[in-house]
Amino acid sequence: MIWAKEETLPRAEIEKIQLERLKETVSYIYERVEPYRKKMDEAGIRPEDIQTLDDLRKMPFTYKADFRDHYPDGLFAVDKKDIVRYHASSGTTGKPTVVGYTQNDLDIWLNNVARIACMGGATAEDVAQISFGYGTFTGALGLHGGLEKIGASVIPMSSGNTNKQIMFLQDMGVTLLVATPSYALHLGEVLRERGIDPSKDLKLHIGLFGGEGMTEPMRDEMHKAWGDQFVCTQNYGMSELCGPGVAGECTELCGMHINEDWFIPEIIDPETEEILPPGEIGELVITCLGKEALPLIRYRTGDLTKLMYEPCACGRTTVRMANLSGRADDMLVIRGVNVFPGQIEEVLFKIDEIGPHYEILVERKNRLDVMTITVELIDDRLLDSYALLSELEQRIKSALKSQLGLATHIRLVAPNSLRRFEGKAKRVTDLRKDGL
Ligand SMILES: [Zn+2]
Repeated sequence: MIWAKEETLPRAEIEKIQLERLKETVSYIYERVEPYRKKMDEAGIRPEDIQTLDDLRKMPFTYKADFRDHYPDGLFAVDKKDIVRYHASSGTTGKPTVVGYTQNDLDIWLNNVARIACMGGATAEDVAQISFGYGTFTGALGLHGGLEKIGASVIPMSSGNTNKQIMFLQDMGVTLLVATPSYALHLGEVLRERGIDPSKDLKLHIGLFGGEGMTEPMRDEMHKAWGDQFVCTQNYGMSELCGPGVAGECTELCGMHINEDWFIPEIIDPETEEILPPGEIGELVITCLGKEALPLIRYRTGDLTKLMYEPCACGRTTVRMANLSGRADDMLVIRGVNVFPGQIEEVLFKIDEIGPHYEILVERKNRLDVMTITVELIDDRLLDSYALLSELEQRIKSALKSQLGLATHIRLVAPNSLRRFEGKAKRVTDLRKDGL
């Protein structure tokens, strides 16, 4: 089911809506948000300079740092009395990012989430268990409201308490799970350990995942844990932009459709800030249209992806963004080529003989950038055969070459010999930056 007619408009009509809303948004923000007015004045831009969609590129970017500088609500465009809801990001370092919604913002937001739920195959028949943590995080209440809008029955389970999660999955006939992909994998493994076969013993057949990216190898793992009947899609959003509801994967599983009537996406080279053509990977920049409480122009998401305008078999005409390739901060420039650790990871995951642990070392030798990737073997008996090792090394090299367009060095090491990390792994060492 397609939730809104805006998802299937011809491109010219989508762009007409975008341009109209962009002009309104720019005037609105110039009038009401002082830090924006200042930025625009400094750049010498007036609202009337925006006459075409291409004119958007004249506008200054908005950064995460703008939220910090104007904490908590200096970027808001309405009075406190008009705000009906606040949310906040987790704020792993320092103060969280606080966002607000008017009643109208909430309506648009939850309708956008309803679209995403439908993209993933949800209907009014579904019983949905939300296993995101509730609280100020936008994920739980966002999916909660969107699923209620389409008429599904929602169980606000929240995160943790695996025993209760499993009891409800069984007793309530849950058909749809909302979770982070890593939690869903964990839950699936616990079920298997307890002798429960999700494909036979549960009614669950839809997964709507968010909060973190899901790679294709993770999706394969998901099917191993939950069975092939389990259709799992991911969706994209961030609290600054509204929360979930920016983009979602349809059941064709070929990227996430962006709700383009409310969000204009651009892809830029994070170093040069130049706009990249469709199909090239770069940093996603989003302009939010029609938001009353917290309008945002050209927000630098820091997420790396590419845009795909080819038609999708689901019938939606909106542009799709690819699975995230990582964060802009993680990007390496090797001999002029942008390389993302996520791309390397994707290649390594597909090779059976090596494990999930790897390290990337970048150095400069004879004025040339050299990248060495160290990977762990799963079976140390391979180390005894030079012929097998060298065949494997060549296979990894050529897979990387076709993915990155770059030659790399590969070091194969014994199982369990690489450093293990608790929390976020530090896999990249760039000696060029250390000036060596
Ligand atoms: Zn589609």
